[in-house]
Amino acid sequence: NITIQKIAAGEVIERPSSIVKELVENSLDAGADNITIEIKDGGKSYIRVTDNGDGIDGDDLSLAFMRHSTSKLSKAEDLYKIKSLGFRGEALASISHVSRVEVMTKTKDALGGVNALIEEGKILSQESIGCPKGTTMIVRDLFYNIPVRKDFLKSDLTESNQVSDIVYKVALGSLKTSFKFIKDNKIILNTSKNNNMKSHIYSILGKDFSKNLTEINFEENGVHVYGYISNNKLYRSNRSHQYIYINGRYVVDKSLSSVIENHYKSTIPLNRFPCFIIFLDLDPSNIDVNIHPTKQEIKFANETQVMEVMNKGIKEVLYPSLS
Ligand code: ADP
Ligand code: MG
Repeated sequence: NITIQKIAAGEVIERPSSIVKELVENSLDAGADNITIEIKDGGKSYIRVTDNGDGIDGDDLSLAFMRHSTSKLSKAEDLYKIKSLGFRGEALASISHVSRVEVMTKTKDALGGVNALIEEGKILSQESIGCPKGTTMIVRDLFYNIPVRKDFLKSDLTESNQVSDIVYKVALGSLKTSFKFIKDNKIILNTSKNNNMKSHIYSILGKDFSKNLTEINFEENGVHVYGYISNNKLYRSNRSHQYIYINGRYVVDKSLSSVIENHYKSTIPLNRFPCFIIFLDLDPSNIDVNIHPTKQEIKFANETQVMEVMNKGIKEVLYPSLS
């Protein structure tokens, strides 16, 4: 039933930025270390994500756009061992129900690539082309078939700011990948692969943020917490400069944020928030990433323990004499 599929898809795909997030996460899952993101008109008319990852085999293409089919799960129990970013097998299907998708892709071993057009979840055409290894997904005319959802989108500027936001967050969390972001034919972000977290932060967030950073690096009970708290522009009026990555994926987690915020309560004015970039690596079986369709929230098997490791990691650098 096309209508139900469209409604379901609309729940996963709220706006251009949700599409960009899903496509870029797929690129990272495919092992890409070079990703280009291009949008036009806030992403409403045009979104392109090009990567140099594994590519999709021509024979698997229709499967990739089928709901709940994913190459990232082989057994049910794998669900609890997910290391990759995406795993629900829903993104491409959903996107193809609310926009016109074009894909160009080639695997390492294939002689040539394929170019296909997909609409309403169905492959309209598929032909051979020459192209480099990797995948390009082009998403055109978002919500062309759901006018109410289209009307619900904000201005081009607001939508493109949301896309920028996601691109910056993902780029910041991916040290070993170079990102290029093009907005209405203008290059907005162009990062190269980096071995050094500090220069990576500098290249994305700029001088102000990266001038004076306190490094955190602590591990206990299989939970590794590392990253930086910014001392320079120490606080902001919102949490927009709080970046938390769990096993490499950007998440929003108020309880984890508050662990850090609590240490700064006495030094930062009311309603101001410290800025930080924190990575938490832990056994994926201890997290449930399947909690929210947009996957920015997370549930831990043992949240208290994770928060305690975070807390200790911060205390160690803020009050070194105590440890
Ligand atoms: P999921 O990421 O949850 O598996 P998606 O709908 O996002 O589901 O993607 C479906 C499948 O399409 C993936 O499992 C993967 O096999 C393939 N795929 C999607 N994007 C890419 C890409 N950029 N490179 C290689 N394979 C991809
Ligand atoms: Mg995915």
